Amino acid sequence: MDKRMSEQELIDAFDKALENNDIHPVYQPQINHSTGRMVGAEALMRWKDYNNGMQYPSDFIPVLENNDLIYRADLHLFEEVCKLQRECIDDQIPVVPVSVNMSRHDIYQKDYVDAIEGIRKKYDVPVKYLRVEITESSAIGGMELISGVLDKLHEYGYTVEMDDFGSGYSSLNVLKDLNVDIIKLDMRFLSGNIGGRGGTILGSIVQMTKWLETPVIAEGVETMAQADYMKSLGCNYIQGYLYFKPITKDQFIEKLKQLEHEPMTPPLSLISTMNADKFWDPSSLETLIFSNFVGGAAIFSYQMGKMDIMRVNPKYVKELGMNSTEKDILKTDPLTVFDEHNKKIYLDTIKKAIVSYDEETCETWRTFYSDCCGEDKVCIRTHMRVIGNAGNQYLFYAMINNITKEKRQFADLAESEKIFRTASEHANIYAWEYIIATKEMRPCFRCMRDLSLPPVVKNYPEPVIENGLFPPDYADMYRGWMKQLEEGVPYLEAVIPLTVGRVPFRVRYTLEYDENGKPLKAYGSATLVVQEDE
Ligand code: C2E
Ligand code: CA
Repeated sequence: MDKRMSEQELIDAFDKALENNDIHPVYQPQINHSTGRMVGAEALMRWKDYNNGMQYPSDFIPVLENNDLIYRADLHLFEEVCKLQRECIDDQIPVVPVSVNMSRHDIYQKDYVDAIEGIRKKYDVPVKYLRVEITESSAIGGMELISGVLDKLHEYGYTVEMDDFGSGYSSLNVLKDLNVDIIKLDMRFLSGNIGGRGGTILGSIVQMTKWLETPVIAEGVETMAQADYMKSLGCNYIQGYLYFKPITKDQFIEKLKQLEHEPMTPPLSLISTMNADKFWDPSSLETLIFSNFVGGAAIFSYQMGKMDIMRVNPKYVKELGMNSTEKDILKTDPLTVFDEHNKKIYLDTIKKAIVSYDEETCETWRTFYSDCCGEDKVCIRTHMRVIGNAGNQYLFYAMINNITKEKRQFADLAESEKIFRTASEHANIYAWEYIIATKEMRPCFRCMRDLSLPPVVKNYPEPVIENGLFPPDYADMYRGWMKQLEEGVPYLEAVIPLTVGRVPFRVRYTLEYDENGKPLKAYGSATLVVQEDE
């Protein structure tokens, strides 16, 4: 039966425990939930006391920390891990990287990094097989101190993990400033509440870390549901009781032999021209461009029909209008602003962009509801492009233009054309325009229908002379008219017997000029001359 030792008992027993290797590591494998392969392991400290049985870190680590003993214990553990790796290499047992924990107190020991480097060299273990876990709370001692340690670790080639990420109050700020290689998210901080607020936080943390192209290990994963949820966020690396409790060195070696292995890779590969770090750096050119120059721009992620807006710039907010704030935009599900028809257009464009890896464009109407303005519809033209992906999750860059006004004008124009057509139908008028520069005639709908004309008649008036619409004895006169229009004669009018039936029509032309006063096009019309008219 294990009995918890008192602080004094621990302190008294420490030297001997270290010497006897009573303080020793156990190992907890880290697994890729998608492939079942091992990607690494964490070494965790245990203290097996002869009289009191197994002691656990939560009981003895604070004691060691408060009594300046943790440094020696950590170096001892590091040495044990190096011994294991050496053994595996020598015995040709597959090797995976093993992480060791670095106490916040180790940071205050100036030579911690040199000390572990000395041990590593002693056992001649390639540095890629060792990782160092620092905790977010290390930053509390000051960013400079921890940054210095981190730089030195990197200089020697160590992979550095940020432990317990998400537990602290200023996680994202710390993360942004610390150049860590792997992030560990502890599910226990979220107390199993993956559907609700905890899930949202977790989701956004995983999303954020993707910006940094940093692999994420989910720690403390106990259930399949948690593991699957993490996978759905694009985080496949799992350390937790679901797969393994911490196991002894011998058990671990067995697992190394049994399981397949694979290296850890970043969750998201950004396209090569993008630099994720710079997107975080508020003073970088990329950020400057994102915020100021490009117009309305957003970054969103897309996975199997689900879309998350991750970043928008101020112009995006302005372009959307509707008095929305950046916060409003980020918190609403972006697909809810569409009706079914527009949603389909938008999603189809996303899918097209995923296939083409090129810029795709769509125009969609969105309905917004706001407290101040009620309901309003806006039409947005979106240019989008994939900038990175992780499995079936894609990161998009989108630029938007609010084209509501343009669209409404267009609709007005279409409306007035309809009025014109209906009017000409009622008034028995044939109407067309003649484009001076191209010698093209564009007939009205009625002309097309009654006279079987195409929408554009080229080399006008030759085709209508040829097909007998214009009688041959009037052909030269009519050609003369076109010449006069070209020369700028503002108005022409005559009664001409049209078609083979020689039906009299009053034909008129009114010329329109461009801004330089040069002839642009002429509006032609033909009305049937009724008997009383003559
Ligand atoms: P940690 O670094 O966050 O380590 C993970 C802890 O979570 C371990 O507890 C591990 O046994 C436990 N754990 C892993 N999977 C699960 C799970 O699915 N459910 C639950 N409930 N727990 C899980 P452990 O070994 O008791 O270590 C506790 C803490 O003590 C560690 O937290 C670490 O901060 C510290 N520690 C452990 N070993 C060392 C060491 O060698 N040096 C230093 N400085 N600190 C250490
Ligand atoms: Ca740890």
